[in-house]
Amino acid sequence: MKISRKSFFKGIALGTVSLPFLIRAFGGKNFAQEGSTGAPNVLTARQYRWKMVTTWPPNFPILGEACNKYAELVEKMSGGRIRIRVYGGNELVPALEAFDTVRTGGAEIGSGAAYYWAGKAPAAQFFASVPFGMNAQQLNAWILGGGGIELWEELYRDFNLVPMPGGNTGVQMGGWFNREINTIDDLKGLKMRIPGLGGKVLEKAGGAPVLLAGGEIYTGLERGVIDATEWLGPYHDTLMGFQDIARYYYTPGWHETGTMLEFFVNKEQYDKLPSDLQAILKTAAAWSNIWTLSNMEAKNALALTTLVEKGVSIRKFPSDVLDKLRQYTEEVISDITASDSFSRRVYDSYDSFRKKAANYSLITEKEFYDKIQKSGGLNLG
Ligand code: CA
Repeated sequence: MKISRKSFFKGIALGTVSLPFLIRAFGGKNFAQEGSTGAPNVLTARQYRWKMVTTWPPNFPILGEACNKYAELVEKMSGGRIRIRVYGGNELVPALEAFDTVRTGGAEIGSGAAYYWAGKAPAAQFFASVPFGMNAQQLNAWILGGGGIELWEELYRDFNLVPMPGGNTGVQMGGWFNREINTIDDLKGLKMRIPGLGGKVLEKAGGAPVLLAGGEIYTGLERGVIDATEWLGPYHDTLMGFQDIARYYYTPGWHETGTMLEFFVNKEQYDKLPSDLQAILKTAAAWSNIWTLSNMEAKNALALTTLVEKGVSIRKFPSDVLDKLRQYTEEVISDITASDSFSRRVYDSYDSFRKKAANYSLITEKEFYDKIQKSGGLNLG
């Protein structure tokens, strides 16, 4: 290696001395060994600078935090080869444009929930949540172990996207009401903030679903623009302050029984990545899937205790109200699957798995909840 000390340092200053040369010049033994095995070389490998657009408000508790942690994890696991800058909803593009932004290459990766894209692909909602659907455990089982992910990938392929399961809310709460729900007729005329299919089901029961963004719900409920609202669970609901303006907190969240969250990656960009980086993106999503659900469960359990101590009245929807809502849900889903053949395929797979999962859960999880687990007890009015 013949190069004078003077021209060497001049070369660094002008940027004409290559990085591999620098490493060799400074005795980068490991570098040479790593390179010879064909393993990706951290120092010379291509650097990727990606943008993530999300549907969540910036740093939104748990869901937005998971995106920030995802980016940190990907950066660490890749030795800095992929750095992802995370944008909250409306920071780079409007929240609900995340899907199209990533699809068309305006950002490389996005985070959301597949039911937001039902207007573009009706079948997408089965990968997030449908009323009276599967819970987090069952949905993970179908998606990761029962053929769901293959269908999800097939659906998103047409949109130039690769989907990755990335989290779950767990069973949500039924929402905040100022009147008791004793019969299905108590839903008649009820103006409720409840998005998606849950809203369509409420409509069949004579209620009026109202679309309100997260930031508008509190004042909407306080001023009577809406009579009721659902949101997530005790943790997020308490942060919104609904306990101060609504009389009853109903359970369960029949409309969102375990909403799966997703990452979606621009397929062209994904296909260009070396396979180890592809694996890192998927592994970080799998981590986020369990981290998000675990933190939802942990924070909701703690927040519920606080709500009960504060005397919030927690009510259960009567069984016959739920039975009626289930019947309306079947009608709503039939309308979707009758008019969209991919929805038919996805729902057939979903529903056949759901029935088997339900049978298994009935003799295991349900027995556990009914007969094995003891709690401190809650007085549910
Ligand atoms: Ca919700």
